[in-house]
Amino acid sequence: MAKCHYCKQSGRKLNRDHIVPRARAGVDEDSNIVYACYPCNTRKGDDWPTCTCSKCTAATEAHWAMIESIREWSPKWADQLTWVANNGRKKTPLTQQLTWHST
Ligand SMILES: [Zn+2]
Ligand SMILES: [Zn+2]
Repeated sequence: MAKCHYCKQSGRKLNRDHIVPRARAGVDEDSNIVYACYPCNTRKGDDWPTCTCSKCTAATEAHWAMIESIREWSPKWADQLTWVANNGRKKTPLTQQLTWHST
């Protein structure tokens, strides 16, 4: 029986939860995804994970490393991503930001 990544309870319906939220430019890849019950998913919302397991820590570190690697060829975009990572996206979807970058 699958368990919620955060509260470890089983028997609840689980949803995919992005460790680094999409709203903070988190990637949609397995390394950034855990399964969480609805209450945990909702409580976490678009915030950084409070979970300190190796997967969540690695995903968080990979996120900043990704932004830093972008900085090498596009400092402006890296600054934008840093802002999004720190503040959370309020209005602009990431796809729109990617479009903004490429145009
Ligand atoms: Zn839970
Ligand atoms: Zn975790």
